[in-house]
Amino acid sequence: GEAAGAAWPLGERRKSRQIMVGGVPVGGDAPVSVQSMTTTLTADVNSTLQQIAELTASGCQIVRVAVPSQDDAEALPAIARKSPIPVIADIHFQPKYVFAAIEAGCAAVRVNPGNIKKFDDKVGEIARAAKDAGVPIRIGVNAGSLDKRLLEKYGKATPEALVESALWECSLFEEHDFRDIKISVKHNDPVVMIEAYRQLAAACDYPLHLGVTEAGPAFQGTIKSSVAFGALLAQGIGDTIRVSLSAPPVEEVKVGTQILESLGLKQRGLEIVSCPSCGRAQVDVYTLAEEVTAGLKGFPVPLRVAVMGCVVNGPGEAREADLGVASGNGKGQIFVKGKVVKTVPEAQIVETLIEEAMRIAEEMGLE
Ligand code: SF4
Repeated sequence: GEAAGAAWPLGERRKSRQIMVGGVPVGGDAPVSVQSMTTTLTADVNSTLQQIAELTASGCQIVRVAVPSQDDAEALPAIARKSPIPVIADIHFQPKYVFAAIEAGCAAVRVNPGNIKKFDDKVGEIARAAKDAGVPIRIGVNAGSLDKRLLEKYGKATPEALVESALWECSLFEEHDFRDIKISVKHNDPVVMIEAYRQLAAACDYPLHLGVTEAGPAFQGTIKSSVAFGALLAQGIGDTIRVSLSAPPVEEVKVGTQILESLGLKQRGLEIVSCPSCGRAQVDVYTLAEEVTAGLKGFPVPLRVAVMGCVVNGPGEAREADLGVASGNGKGQIFVKGKVVKTVPEAQIVETLIEEAMRIAEEMGLE
């Protein structure tokens, strides 16, 4: 990974307070992180974990899952426990799911201010539960679900309306002495979105989650997000990003990562990523990941290595990784860019990975 506190290549970075989303710092001098959101039914634990495996292998650092029903809420403990990256529960209407998510061990909860009013006196309870568990809250304002009162006041979702809504929501939590917050003010128009984030950045010191809503299909969405995030990040605004595309979430991560790399905000080094190991896992992926990390320590070129728990889906899920291993039956399938190149006994996995890593480095001309 990249060093914390890496220099901001373009002028000065806005000073935000830092929160912890699980093990990932957001804000302050933490590197800007890349997030995405699963598209599986959250209640389908295995499919969700498999998609999280794909996202992790493509460099996603934080993942959000939607929690629209009781079945989804019940799936959260297993997902939160097994996901190798922090899980944020996305909750729109039901306060009881917020409590369920905190209890489930989710790293953060996202709530929607257009609906949070319905929480009424639950805000205090949510603040207490979140504080006790050390769980931050994302206040997620969306143009599409803006509070009626503000829509009437401003006529439409203007930057001012989005910002007023976000700050008002924050004040509901601040009244309960809760400030472990990050904010998003999303709009589908980059011009409105950029202005909203600029105003918000000036008005508070909370870390900001950048996003353009309904950004559209891959091509259009990539451009909208790149332009909007680029404008803000170049000004030092933004602590974590999520590119929204009507495309598989792995594409969102690729675009987000490229945006950060383009601005010199992310340097790729050696990155070892492991799958969450769902019901298919035939190996202790965490131990294997540690061995691989130790084996490749100090490797000199940018390389993403995926450690996957099974040979059924592992290579496919990790196709965005440069190199990887999928284990099962005492053997390890070694794969490059998602294609199996070799199968070796478990004891030879680490040395084979090092060999393949050297080969990739040579091909990149970086050796
Ligand atoms: Fe994917 Fe296999 Fe890991 Fe399950 S065990 S998350 S299917 S790689």
